[in-house]
Amino acid sequence: MTAGLYVHIPFCSSRCSYCDFATGLYQSELAERYVCALVEDIRSSRYCDETVDTIYFGGGTPSLLGPSQLDRILTTLHDTFRVDAESEITLEINPGSATPEKLRTFRSLGINRASFGAQTFDDAELAKLGRSHNTADVLRTFADLRSAGFENVSFDLIAGLPGQTLAGWQRNIQQALDLGPEHLSFYLLEVHSGTPLAEHIRRGIQPAPDDDLAGVMYEWMLEQSSQAGYEHYEISNLCRHGFHSRHNVKYWTAEPYYGFGCSAHSYDGQTRRWFNHRDMLKYVQVIESGASPMVEEQQLSQADVRAEALFLGMRMMQGIDMRCYRESFGVDLRDEHSADLDRFYKAGLVEFDGDLIRLTRTGALLSNEVFAAFV
Ligand code: SF4
Repeated sequence: MTAGLYVHIPFCSSRCSYCDFATGLYQSELAERYVCALVEDIRSSRYCDETVDTIYFGGGTPSLLGPSQLDRILTTLHDTFRVDAESEITLEINPGSATPEKLRTFRSLGINRASFGAQTFDDAELAKLGRSHNTADVLRTFADLRSAGFENVSFDLIAGLPGQTLAGWQRNIQQALDLGPEHLSFYLLEVHSGTPLAEHIRRGIQPAPDDDLAGVMYEWMLEQSSQAGYEHYEISNLCRHGFHSRHNVKYWTAEPYYGFGCSAHSYDGQTRRWFNHRDMLKYVQVIESGASPMVEEQQLSQADVRAEALFLGMRMMQGIDMRCYRESFGVDLRDEHSADLDRFYKAGLVEFDGDLIRLTRTGALLSNEVFAAFV
């Protein structure tokens, strides 16, 4: 198993109304301090010298960083780890957050995949979400990405927005498919307490998301995308052949990944998980004082490892090989969860194919119900 690296960049140009991520508004002085702290965090990794084959810059809006800051982080990663020459290197990019020249420089630094936060192609929906971009920005930045040489672009799309209609969603999906990105990540809007969106819904300013309608949107999107040649490889992700997110697959298949930055999580691929301070300023101050940014470490029991293998592995639409599961854990999956599996099979949520067990499309939509039984 080869590890992946995650780097969290917690800056955004504005706050979206639904967001509860560990991010804050971009300030150039703080960003510079943060990058210095990040470089120290990476250099202190106890896993230095390991081979890695994916790097993922997430956030926040990592494309707000200057090319020289990104270059310093990448150089430190290359100096600290053995970065495979064929590595997938992803940068999350928001529409309108980078000039064509900046995108070309990012590409020349070795970034070869863009995770593009389009979200929706409807200006009114973007405004309701508090996004800082409009549809024209989506189209322009996507064209700029292509011109800069990005041949692997993933679109993020959100369904189930307050007031969104099925017809509106269908227009969104059609517009995304017409642009022909290599990858689609699809999210159902979640309303997190404490966010402005939750408050708007509580006060009746915006309607609550309609879960049933979101289900219909999900089914429609899967149907259209598969007709357009996309492979549904994970509950929320589709791709053209060979363009799955190599980094994210590590999360679902229990491969090791090492996270840097505030709130970043790590896993050694066996029984150790740990994560950093969530607060950006605290993370910077702790590193500046010479201490470790790690705030908690967990030792997983064999039962924990088995449960994770099950509910993370089942996210992949190819399913879980029950023979491999038995060889790895010495337990027969059908015996271990016979009552639940029987119930889910009868409800049409899972299906069996030789040694494989996997979610059906309906099971993918109701996956939280399935996974709850395994935790
Ligand atoms: S751009 Fe993303 S990370 Fe930043 S506030 Fe919006 S949803 Fe949150």
